[in-house]
Amino acid sequence: MFIMSEDSQRTQGRDAQSSNIMAGKAVAESVRTTLGPRGMDKMLVDSGGEVVITNDGATILNEMDIEHPAAQMIVEVADSQEEEVGDGTTTAAVIAGNLLGEAEDLIEQDVHATTIVEGYHEASEIALEAISEQVSEEVVDDEVLKQVAESSMTGKGTGGLTAESLAETVVEAIRHVELEDGVARDNVTVHTQIGASSNATELVPGIVIDEEPAHDGMPGEVEDASLAVLDVELGVRTGEIDAEYSIDSIDQLNSAIDAEESEVRGYAETVAESGADVVFTTEDVDDRVASYLATEGVLVFEGIGDSDAKDIVSATGATRVGALDDLEEADFGQADRISAENYGDDDLAFVEGGAAAETVTVFVRGGTEHIVDELERAIGDALDVVATALASGEVVPGAGATEIAIADKIREEAAGIEGRKQLAVNAFADALDIVPRTLAANTGRDPIDALVDLRAAHDSTGRAGLITSGEEVTIDDPFDYGVIDPADVKREAIESATEAATMIARIDDVIAAE
Ligand code: ADP
Ligand code: MG
Repeated sequence: MFIMSEDSQRTQGRDAQSSNIMAGKAVAESVRTTLGPRGMDKMLVDSGGEVVITNDGATILNEMDIEHPAAQMIVEVADSQEEEVGDGTTTAAVIAGNLLGEAEDLIEQDVHATTIVEGYHEASEIALEAISEQVSEEVVDDEVLKQVAESSMTGKGTGGLTAESLAETVVEAIRHVELEDGVARDNVTVHTQIGASSNATELVPGIVIDEEPAHDGMPGEVEDASLAVLDVELGVRTGEIDAEYSIDSIDQLNSAIDAEESEVRGYAETVAESGADVVFTTEDVDDRVASYLATEGVLVFEGIGDSDAKDIVSATGATRVGALDDLEEADFGQADRISAENYGDDDLAFVEGGAAAETVTVFVRGGTEHIVDELERAIGDALDVVATALASGEVVPGAGATEIAIADKIREEAAGIEGRKQLAVNAFADALDIVPRTLAANTGRDPIDALVDLRAAHDSTGRAGLITSGEEVTIDDPFDYGVIDPADVKREAIESATEAATMIARIDDVIAAE
């Protein structure tokens, strides 16, 4: 009796386990060389020839177009890490891969998958305790936040700019959107603009959109602006242009033109008389309306995107208006300054000092598209970690020190765990060694020697990482060098890696429909 289609593929038992584990390990392995300050970048070329150069774990894994379902779960680890805390994606993927590698060894030693899963869960609980023990007692002030930002950006292609000055911009941005009980991270956006060195990267106290004025004669800058956000076409509706007029005489033609002219002038006058200094509309603006408004000194941006319109509304307190007749002063938003600026081939509109929300934009500059794209990712990560660290107030030492401490605590507690589960708990500690080992390998150090030295230093001082500063690689207290990560980044990495590894290890039957 067939219960599945003949084309279905079925793999069972050890074969299923080992093929899943191998796929998961291979994916994690593929991002290992990018970890840490000396991690290398990857160039990814898609089938259309589109090139991405990056050091970002989640970006690499997503660009790789992975099909194997178990491997896909490692990609999900990186994705959930990115979503939850914004950084530590490579770390999480690499740990997950190593947990799988250790599980494979245990399975070969006849440790049952359920025992491995139990042991891993127990070990991850110990790991979370160890992370809490590593949390710094120091207050998380601007100096610490800058170090957190810098630690997340070192090794990223930050162009000519030192991570230090970028870190300052990042902290300033997050401080702008700090609330009493958290951080409004979404109120910080990043806008990239090619054409200058990354040194020109700056914080704009407002929003930046890709738009140009509807008419050359309009003012390039308006201070203390009252602005209207419209979903109104300012002109003869394009739909009506197709309508057929049957015109038999010049008189009729002239009166048709006159009618249109006066309709168009009516729109222009309504807008001008409303008292708005600046108008943003999601629809088109007739050239004649634009030219009339230009003479009236009104700055108009037409055809703006829906999400830009929403941003302007939330920043300035404007109300979107769907019909010109409804436009009144109460619908206006306010901004300190609205300006139109030209950057080479691009025109940008700046809305600064909006009355409603504390939105800020990191205006990222860089010489080429690849540079600004990677800077955008690096700054995005830095904004996330600073927001995370500020919100929780908890930071831990980076440079592998936290992982060394976690492994140490797990091994200590494993001694009290009975039976084969002890093997699994210890294996979890071994898996975590991948982080300091990889940091060492990526600096050209011997990973085994580094691990031995790190453990010895940890035993004597309680805090030891493999720190890269300039050309030097030292084993020391990462806090003294400002190598600091948010505690939540480490927690999330442990949790998501454990979850994926245990889920994959538990599978012993793969049924794939063709
Ligand atoms: P991830 O995607 O996991 O964030 P990264 O390539 O950003 O990967 O590397 C993060 C790791 O690099 C963290 O463990 C962090 O503590 C470490 N790190 C950051 N700066 C330094 C430094 N100067 N020396 C050593 N390790 C560092
Ligand atoms: Mg990082």
